[in-house]
Amino acid sequence: MGTGRSAQILKKAVKLIPGGVNSPVRAFKAVGGGPLFISRAKGSKIYDVDGNEYIDYIGSWGPMILGHVHPKVSAAIKKAVDRGTSYGAPTELEVTLAEHTLKAFPSMDMVRFVSSGTEATMSALRLARAYTGRDGIIKFEGCYHGHSDSLLVKAGSGAATLGVPDSPGVVADLAKHTYNATYNDLASVRAIFEKKPKAIACVIVEGVPGNMGVVLPKEGFLKGLKALCKEFGALLIMDEVMSGFRLCYGGAQKIYKIDPDLTCLGKVIGGGLPVGGFGGKRKIMEQLAPSGPVYQAGTLSGNPLAMTAGIETLKLLQGKTVYEKLYKTTNSLVEGLEEIAKRRGVPVRTAVAGSMFTVFFSERPIASWKDARGADTAKFGKYFTRMLKAGIYLPPSQFEAVFVGLAHTGKDIAKTLEAADKAMKGL
Ligand SMILES: *Cc1c(COP(=O)(O)O)cnc(C)c1O
Repeated sequence: MGTGRSAQILKKAVKLIPGGVNSPVRAFKAVGGGPLFISRAKGSKIYDVDGNEYIDYIGSWGPMILGHVHPKVSAAIKKAVDRGTSYGAPTELEVTLAEHTLKAFPSMDMVRFVSSGTEATMSALRLARAYTGRDGIIKFEGCYHGHSDSLLVKAGSGAATLGVPDSPGVVADLAKHTYNATYNDLASVRAIFEKKPKAIACVIVEGVPGNMGVVLPKEGFLKGLKALCKEFGALLIMDEVMSGFRLCYGGAQKIYKIDPDLTCLGKVIGGGLPVGGFGGKRKIMEQLAPSGPVYQAGTLSGNPLAMTAGIETLKLLQGKTVYEKLYKTTNSLVEGLEEIAKRRGVPVRTAVAGSMFTVFFSERPIASWKDARGADTAKFGKYFTRMLKAGIYLPPSQFEAVFVGLAHTGKDIAKTLEAADKAMKGL
């Protein structure tokens, strides 16, 4: 927990920046205490301003799949800096990253790059609405798609189908076009479609949700969504901002054999620099300006440094044994944690998706946001604090994924399990 210099900096930060942070989840609110202020990172380790070393399982919330300061990525970025950091004109780098992206995601014929996942999903929505001439969207409770108005909405009280704004400032007239369904429940989606058969532009779903903690799609759920979209003339948007290069090289759509109309990307695709992307079928993508009428733009979109980091990262992820190694490391950690929980008599439910996972402190299986919300967050808070004290930097919320990267070593895993064994004692 942020003590020493971190606590000092936080005192100053809260006067200058709301909550002292530039993205809320960094504030450690869910677990209590202040955040660590970070000074540097290398490989699997991250260091706070007091010089404490932690094994990092946040990885910048997903992007750092190769570990911090990968020599090849760093060298490429350094070289790119000397050629200029932004031109506001197209570069060949954008074409190269597009080639890598489209090869990884055969469902996409074209892609447009932006600077964040939020921009990607926001733009994909606009495109879906324009293409179908409809306003309504269906999303799932517990799925996060960035903070644009239409998507920052979840059902107020379980049964509500009409969107209720999740944040003050979200225009109710806009939020009312957002319908919330229950994850893993096709009937809840069909019910909305049947009520509004000609009003729904798209269904947007996380490839595999990681933003309520990792929750796996049930057999047939994603295929069922695609079929419902087809039946009612809506588009399927797979938001693979998190899952895209985490589950495998090609995301959830490759693993679950889904052919979405549009896909959103982010996080890993920028290798630690700000990149998002959205893409899909040519006839839809060509509606985008300047080839079509749907406006979307960005001064720093396709930024040469960011493209360089993305290209180098994707190239390295194409190595033959990369994902095998990731799965092996992840599984050894998860299996170890399950064994410890069992031995310590702590009821947990784990969900693993490639190189991300969540240990829910829950006796019941987790298939939706309602289930996830039932997890014991107080227990998680204790576990988190004990782990942090032992030098293990986990996401500071029960409802987040833990990210394993290629830099995590057998020694890291052993140290993590040793810490977990102590942390779960008496939980
Ligand atoms: C992180 C995330 C986003 C938002 O991306 P930002 O780069 O934070 O704007 C959108 N969708 C999913 C699934 C995400 O995990």
